Amino acid sequence: MAKRPLTIFLASPRGFCAGVERAIEIVERAIRKYGPPVYVRHEIVHNRYVVEALQAKGAVFVEELNEVPDGVPVIFSAHGVPKSIPNEAQNRKLLYVDATCPLVSKVHREAERHHRDGRQIVLIGHAGHPEVIGTMGQLPEGSIVLVEDAAQAEALEVPDPAMLAYITQTTLSVDDTVEIIEVLQRRFPEISGPKKEDICYATTNRQEAVKAIAPHCDALLVVGAPNSSNSARLVEVAQKHGCRTAMLVQRAAEVDWGRLDRIERLGITAGASAPEILVEEVIAACQQRYEVEIQEVTVTSENVVFKLPRLLTSTAAE
Ligand code: SF4
Repeated sequence: MAKRPLTIFLASPRGFCAGVERAIEIVERAIRKYGPPVYVRHEIVHNRYVVEALQAKGAVFVEELNEVPDGVPVIFSAHGVPKSIPNEAQNRKLLYVDATCPLVSKVHREAERHHRDGRQIVLIGHAGHPEVIGTMGQLPEGSIVLVEDAAQAEALEVPDPAMLAYITQTTLSVDDTVEIIEVLQRRFPEISGPKKEDICYATTNRQEAVKAIAPHCDALLVVGAPNSSNSARLVEVAQKHGCRTAMLVQRAAEVDWGRLDRIERLGITAGASAPEILVEEVIAACQQRYEVEIQEVTVTSENVVFKLPRLLTSTAAE
């Protein structure tokens, strides 16, 4: 029987960002330099496939530093860590490499600057996300208050509205964040903040690409992990921009083909921690069922590359 036609709109940019590429490279180089095992505190990036590939090479993933034995190197994940973690590593004389994305570190420095200037800081972000835990842990308890949505921004009470600043998680919905910032600026006109927000280029570009394809899609698949903030935001962005049937899948085996029955146009994108090989896997699964035509929709190109820590770049290390 002839296969039914399916047009795939492939969002671009999608998938790995410069911070994720750098974090993976740090683990791989550390394994080559020090030999396995190399411990990693928290999933280096939120993707099972990536974590398992690194485990196969000699990485051991743990949640807390007290699970790392003495004398082995440890790497901190791309999401950033509270200051107490490198302090604890130093006390234990552990060799550690910090794989925090430079764009997350930039937010940490912003927070420190506001704190030095005597400002109370509002962090716009999601409770419990490792990046939020890491950012809040840059300063003494109580220096940063978390606001998750516009309603919380409306209800926020601060001791001195003239001494207030905001920072944001890097992987939020651009549109939701603008709304929250508008509430804060209306209620506290003197609030300081970054020029736009701290949402990173990769999160912004992936959301823009989804906005471009969503209105033309009957359904849209976001390849990414359930605990990946930027992937979850891509599903919401698609739903808000005209594609109600938007779903997160970790890989092809998770696709609910019943929900894709009878569709003619499918959007595909991937979160910043999802490797392209998983996108290819989903496309191949579509090709088994449909006569596929692929149209890549590119909203911008990216050429961001972050430097690796010097400890891992000296030639003697290789
Ligand atoms: S999503 Fe943005 S902040 Fe997070 S690792 Fe990638 S570039 Fe860095």
